[in-house]
Amino acid sequence: MSKLTLDRILQSQGFGTRKYCRGLIEDGEVSINGVVVDNFKTAVDTTDLEFTIFDEVWRYREHVYIVLNKPANFECSRKPSHHPGVLTLLPEQFTWRDLQPVGRLDHDTTGMLLMSDDGPFIHAQSSPKRHIPKIYVATTHDPVTPELIAQLLGGVQLHDEPAPLAAQTCRMLAEHQIEIVLEQGKYHQVKRMLAAAGNHCSALNRAEIGELTLESLGLEEGEWTYLDAEQLALLR
Ligand code: URA
Repeated sequence: MSKLTLDRILQSQGFGTRKYCRGLIEDGEVSINGVVVDNFKTAVDTTDLEFTIFDEVWRYREHVYIVLNKPANFECSRKPSHHPGVLTLLPEQFTWRDLQPVGRLDHDTTGMLLMSDDGPFIHAQSSPKRHIPKIYVATTHDPVTPELIAQLLGGVQLHDEPAPLAAQTCRMLAEHQIEIVLEQGKYHQVKRMLAAAGNHCSALNRAEIGELTLESLGLEEGEWTYLDAEQLALLR
């Protein structure tokens, strides 16, 4: 059992500053099990806790792990420069909780974007030592050829890399579509690898991380969902 005062709980869940959360509680906006709790010093057990604020039910989460089906024209940066940031697609509480993308997607790349406020988890997921496969579907300007696939599998030299980078696996899906599986996450890696192999990437979608597929989550573009323990275990 882990007990915290209600004002601390709301603050930890991203509802604002301690002062603001105290105000919400004193104004009678917060209830637990259908009962308004208006004393912010009330100690509450966080185990399986659900609370209601402004008629919306929330579950206490020590950390948040979500997948967003990222649409094009959103930036992964917290300080976006040309397009809105992905955080604008999520509840405001996630910005207060300092939710971060786990590895970035380009503004024009769509698909699976993992986000969390758990620092060690983000670090572990991003570590190149983990060799977590990421599956991309790229639309190509020129037709996909056996030579293109052979080059991507054999390794292509990128401008600022010490050694050639190779796709872990790679297969043609359609005349202008290729699936590329990468274990690294270098800057613009898919686009630069396709360019180095003499083609051009005109659209890019991340379909899978580890063994978790975007399809299995059933998210439309712009939609997101919390990940449960079973889904988190597939991310490797
Ligand atoms: N490779 C790219 O070129 N862009 C991405 O967004 C992800 C991988």
